[in-house]
Amino acid sequence: MDVINEIFATNKVLYQCACGHCKPLTHIYFCRYCLKMRCKDCVYHEVDSQYCQHCLEYIPTIDAKLKKNKCASCFQCPNCMHTLTPRTFLASVPSETDPNGMTTRKAQFLLCSYCKWSSKDVGIPDQFIGSGGWPEIEAPNRKRVEGLVDHYRVIAQRERMEKEKKRINPRPGHAIHLLDKYGISASLSAKLTESLRTKAYSGRISSNYLSASKSLTDIKLEPSLATDDVEPLDVDTFYNKDLIESEISSIEQRLMQVEMQPNTVSQFYPISKMLYVKRSLRCKECDHNIIKPEYNSSSIKFKIQLSAFYDIPEVKIASTPKLIPHKESMVELTFKNPYQYGMHVCLQPLKDEEMDESITGKIILPKAEFILECKDDTLEPELDSTQKTRYNDDPQLITFRRGNKIGLRLTVIPEIDSGRCRVCFRLRHDFVNSVVQNKSTGGSEPQVSWISHKIYVDLGPVIESKESIA
Ligand SMILES: [Zn+2]
Ligand SMILES: [Zn+2]
Ligand SMILES: [Zn+2]
Ligand SMILES: [Zn+2]
Repeated sequence: MDVINEIFATNKVLYQCACGHCKPLTHIYFCRYCLKMRCKDCVYHEVDSQYCQHCLEYIPTIDAKLKKNKCASCFQCPNCMHTLTPRTFLASVPSETDPNGMTTRKAQFLLCSYCKWSSKDVGIPDQFIGSGGWPEIEAPNRKRVEGLVDHYRVIAQRERMEKEKKRINPRPGHAIHLLDKYGISASLSAKLTESLRTKAYSGRISSNYLSASKSLTDIKLEPSLATDDVEPLDVDTFYNKDLIESEISSIEQRLMQVEMQPNTVSQFYPISKMLYVKRSLRCKECDHNIIKPEYNSSSIKFKIQLSAFYDIPEVKIASTPKLIPHKESMVELTFKNPYQYGMHVCLQPLKDEEMDESITGKIILPKAEFILECKDDTLEPELDSTQKTRYNDDPQLITFRRGNKIGLRLTVIPEIDSGRCRVCFRLRHDFVNSVVQNKSTGGSEPQVSWISHKIYVDLGPVIESKESIA
């Protein structure tokens, strides 16, 4: 268990995102267009497509809105949340041609294979195949909720329009947001949406949809009114009857069906599975996509995936030293280049204004620059013994070199008497951009830029001396 914890405990080395948040490398994206780190807190989240995670059916946005983000054919058990399976059997029904005879038809009921709850338990009639899905029960407050949703939609729209008016230079792509909002973009093909997106930049479409939305402002909402009538307490049920626990639903079961909230087991009804979304992420600064999944709901691949662990060197702690307060100790850090090009790396101390109170140790960094080889899956690093001599590595500093990975021995001095020792430095490296071409050479060569990242390393607790405890 400890080994597993060690692998997934990625909070020891944190990278600072452009927005200031510190995250592990696996939670960070790297925008190759503005050459900055991005995290989920500083990018636009956009819903790309909706799908049912059980039957993997792709559902267009407009349909998903009409179906209240629920799948029409998949249900989960109201008792244990497990997925319900439809069971088919032959039922005998009165024949349509012969008034006295009987005929057989294929019918279905829903059964939970885990807790054995079935739609028969609560008296839901079996569905004949081809009769068009399970009936939906109407929520008691449906009309009121719909009225409120419409009302707030109008308010949100008004606010948005006012904001747009104030903005001198509206953000490009605004029209496509309006198209998304009314579910129009999803009913169009991906190609058409894309061309609309480009047209939207010229602002030709946005005005049409703004005027169309004005008609919605006519919606009137009835205010809520308090009444003097309070339902009398059902004394007979609550005080005079024995409580049978198996007949009463639990809080979890009630909240699973928040619109119905069944008090008793007999009121259970199959719950429609909620749809899942595929999100794409967009850089707030340059509007480029950072993450874009494939449309196909069964695919787990991405069209665009600019995760930082593909581009930025990974720093790990190889061996945790014994940290004695105010004394020098040696720590071994490893640096790994995940990128297709080699990198020149140097470590820099923080400037005084960059220091913060979370840094509790000092790290002595080498002045020399070192080279990280590119990632090469075909290379067998163990066999390549010429590497160490090729780069003329200082054995005092570099402990090992294997392919795209090297180990560095660094000195740290904890500046606290108790608690965790946290050091921070800047990792500066060159980056060969395969996406953005170099403009000065006419676009024939990739652009090379130097970038740096602020990295926090948590080395663990210091050994408390006996005097400080006393
Ligand atoms: Zn961020
Ligand atoms: Zn489904
Ligand atoms: Zn169940
Ligand atoms: Zn960007």
